[in-house]
Amino acid sequence: MSATLASISYIGAAILFILSLGGLSHPETSRRGNVYGIIGMAIAVLATVFGPQVTAAGYAWIVGAMVVGGSIGLYAARVVKMTQMPELVALMHSLVGLAAMLVGFANYIDPAAAGVFQGTEKTIHELEIYIGILIGAVTFSGSVIAFGKLSGKIGGRPVLIPGRHWVNLAGLLVVIWFGGSFIQAHSVAEGMTPLAVMSVIALLFGIHMVMAIGGADMPVVVSMLNSYSGWAAAATGFMLNNDLLIVTGALVGSSGAILSYIMCRAMNRRFIAVIAGGFGTEGGAPAAAGGGAQPAGEVVPILAPETAELLREAKSVIIVPGYGMAVAQAQHTVCEIAEHLREKGVNVRFGIHPVAGRMPGHMNVLLAEAKVPYDIVFEMDELNEDFPDTDVAMVIGANDIVNPAAQDDPASPIAGMPVLEVWKAKTSIVMKRSMASGYAGVDNPLFYKENNRMLFGDAKKMLEEVLVALIA
Ligand code: NDP
Repeated sequence: MSATLASISYIGAAILFILSLGGLSHPETSRRGNVYGIIGMAIAVLATVFGPQVTAAGYAWIVGAMVVGGSIGLYAARVVKMTQMPELVALMHSLVGLAAMLVGFANYIDPAAAGVFQGTEKTIHELEIYIGILIGAVTFSGSVIAFGKLSGKIGGRPVLIPGRHWVNLAGLLVVIWFGGSFIQAHSVAEGMTPLAVMSVIALLFGIHMVMAIGGADMPVVVSMLNSYSGWAAAATGFMLNNDLLIVTGALVGSSGAILSYIMCRAMNRRFIAVIAGGFGTEGGAPAAAGGGAQPAGEVVPILAPETAELLREAKSVIIVPGYGMAVAQAQHTVCEIAEHLREKGVNVRFGIHPVAGRMPGHMNVLLAEAKVPYDIVFEMDELNEDFPDTDVAMVIGANDIVNPAAQDDPASPIAGMPVLEVWKAKTSIVMKRSMASGYAGVDNPLFYKENNRMLFGDAKKMLEEVLVALIA
């Protein structure tokens, strides 16, 4: 393929990636967005493999790598459950970071590159390598820790070392200082020491940064690492002199940054404060994944037939899904219940919290999969004021996102986070298996409210029982 054709293909692929991002911004156009992305990526891969930068000798390596990578990807796609997607995404971000690091080192020691750049060009090239490895290392180790936290292998509680901000500052100064020595190095051997020291510091910083972030703030970290992986890819593009990788990386990096901002707004946090870490440590219950907090108070249990009765009598119902709906894979049964109620003239709507589940848009994906009509799915802000006029608020496997302590208890680790005010409905029904806490590890006063009922059991099983009782 000629260089001109490769460039035209790259421009086409870049346009398709932009269209893909545009499509993914709304559920109705997201399928189209995915198709654009797939076509764009296919063009990008073909144009690169058959482009002027790859020689015939490289084909065997590329095919070998594609077979290994493709097989792992195929296997992962088949065995990974929907609830494990956030962990898988974190793991994939770590691979982007690792790739940026490896490309950086390979680029630096490549004997073919020796003498190609001179003067200012050489300095710029070395800066690209240094910054590329730095971003790659932070992304790599940070994503590995995020994977551990999301999969529950590492506790959700923030781990804070004394004087951590000073440690970070010292790390930054050392990295800048070694950056100077790296640029001034006269040989590859001389430059390897500062590069290696910086890599170790960046790896430790990635671990430290994510370890210091508390349970409920994880959504920001997930989207932030998504952004970092984009910048790492862009840095790789600079190192490899590949324009498409730069454009694609910048698209992922900037859209991830926008997502982080949206997530921060959803959590009512300042970005810098989240990165500094430590939420959930001052007073209140400590944040710990997996339900560390002790339940306090009496709850009123309810059975499926009584739930069906309440729904049958309701004029207006708001369904609030959370992580438990994903675990139980209850979305199809929820959809059937919603359809049945709508046929009977009940006003049924879904309320989606921006951080419900374990990844941005988690609930929207599940509801779309179950073919819930988009026009009855609303964002939190769109219907939070409607709860006082709602007969039944049905909470399906959600916990933190409907916790009134976020508004009432300034000492709570989730204090200040906007929540869906389900307790303002005439009756709220919480569907979950036990009294265990949610991801943030805090007790939920909603469970003890007079107008709240607890429907204990697996969400799918309980909803099936509700549906049977509704139809009977
Ligand atoms: P939570 O984790 O707060 O609560 C989920 C609840 O679902 C649990 O209390 C659990 O209770 C219940 N549950 C689990 N399995 C089942 C089942 N099979 N059937 C019925 N219930 C079940 O989830 P939310 O969606 O309310 O809140 C999301 C939390 O995750 C927030 O703290 C958010 O910050 C965090 N987070 C979000 C990310 C994102 O990007 N969206 C990323 C990382 C973290 P029980 O065990 O008793 O059944």
